Amino acid sequence: MSTQTQTRLQTKDATIQVANFVAGKWESHEDKEVRRLNPADQSDLVALSPDSSAETARRAIEGVTLGAEKWRRLTPPERGKIVLRAAQIVESDRDNIARLITREQGKPIAESYAEIKRAIDIMEYASGMGRRLGGQTLPSEMPDVFCYTTRQPIGSVALISPWNIPFAIPCWKIAPAFVCGCPIVFKPSPFTPATAARVVDVFLEAGMPREAIALVHGGPAVGEQLVNNPMVVGISFTGSTKVGMAINAQAAKRMAKTQLEMGGKNPQVILGDADLDLAVDSCVTSSLDVSGQRCTCVSRVVVEEKVADAFTERLVDRFKSIKVGAGIDPTVNMGPLIDSTRLRDVDAFVTRARAEGGKVLTGGARPAGMEHGHFYAPTVIDGITPKHEIGREEVFGPVLALMRVRDFSEAVGTANNVDYGLTSSIFTRDLSRAFNYIDKVEAGMVHINRPTLGGFSHFPFGGHKHSSHGPREVGDDTIGFYTSLKSAYIKYN
Ligand code: NAD
Repeated sequence: MSTQTQTRLQTKDATIQVANFVAGKWESHEDKEVRRLNPADQSDLVALSPDSSAETARRAIEGVTLGAEKWRRLTPPERGKIVLRAAQIVESDRDNIARLITREQGKPIAESYAEIKRAIDIMEYASGMGRRLGGQTLPSEMPDVFCYTTRQPIGSVALISPWNIPFAIPCWKIAPAFVCGCPIVFKPSPFTPATAARVVDVFLEAGMPREAIALVHGGPAVGEQLVNNPMVVGISFTGSTKVGMAINAQAAKRMAKTQLEMGGKNPQVILGDADLDLAVDSCVTSSLDVSGQRCTCVSRVVVEEKVADAFTERLVDRFKSIKVGAGIDPTVNMGPLIDSTRLRDVDAFVTRARAEGGKVLTGGARPAGMEHGHFYAPTVIDGITPKHEIGREEVFGPVLALMRVRDFSEAVGTANNVDYGLTSSIFTRDLSRAFNYIDKVEAGMVHINRPTLGGFSHFPFGGHKHSSHGPREVGDDTIGFYTSLKSAYIKYN
């Protein structure tokens, strides 16, 4: 029975009962349950999921590791075809999936559709890896020796994902992991269990062997078992820099491989010659997508003094016109934050920025009369420098820090003056400055006259400094994480 059916059967009063998938079976709930409420409407109980124990996680790891023998003879192209079928299932069910993402995560429905499109594109690309998992044939140093390199799956992997992109991120981990031949234990965020279950559903419906994947819901107890169990040889994690660094330190003790995608404090630089309308449009999109809770969101605007007032005026007008509300309403531009803790943390950042001398030009509070959800008004704070906390730390909310600079050189220095280095953009008509920016900015992704969001599905995704660690995700670089190289030498005379 696929989870799609199971989810339907277990739906009661529109609350979704979410189960673990362990050793090829959906398991009934453990004693402790996590209640997931709709972040836009706290009276809507979206899902109940298990708060699983370390022992459940251990059984899940053992199940996929021992189960690998059952699908060992499935070739990479055959695995790729299963991933392609999964992409087609997502396409045909995208209306239901979009509504589920919006209900559980909170983002506007159009953003849920965009996330689904990204998942499909990446799965289509990853399906082709099944025919690209090649090594190299290289010249021999000796006569009569044929030599080549080949790639082998590293073994069982733990895939740990966050709540902000709850459908596409699991897809872009599971698809290449499976095509590369790695048994998978997937641990989603406890905030988005039903979306995670639908992801696993889709792969099983597409024909993924039941022994190839496990899904374990839960918190740190599950996470720590995945990170420390010797059967797990690789950990692909997306989440905060704090948790990612802790995982890396633990994994290093037993030489487990890590692929970490973490936080950002991304700048959008606007030079004096920029097309200001384009820069404002891009800034609104980049800073308010998923209510500013996206690792690639812009959270610092670094603007050259001579255009700062003109830019700020237009930006503030646009922020004031943003319609905040439940994402299921197609006229809403921005949804709620993920939970009450995030709401409190974002507001505390703004309070401290004010105390440090920042000037709130718009927002800076919960919108009145919207206490039924975790809403926060789009916020712009002027007068910020790298000395201010809000000019350095990731806020993860709809809050933009405005940083005025004298010239290009100060703009680059300011852009680089943080521990993070995920993505970045610059608005200018000057080709020389554009190329100099690409050269000098400390970021894994850089855009010229474009938003910081929206990398392509065949391009490596990741950052420099404290934003990423290990082989990049998305694109073919991720093959380097899920496989190990082997060099073979064959003497034939
Ligand atoms: P988080 O670090 O709190 O949690 C991420 C995942 O790790 C969750 O599944 C969580 O349950 C799990 N986890 C928590 N403690 C753990 C532990 N000790 N061991 C193992 N797993 C553990 O992050 P979040 O709040 O879910 O997501 C927001 C963060 O994710 C932001 O910092 C954002 O920038 C980052 N993010 C980065 C990218 C990227 O690709 N660079 C993409 C999306 C989000």
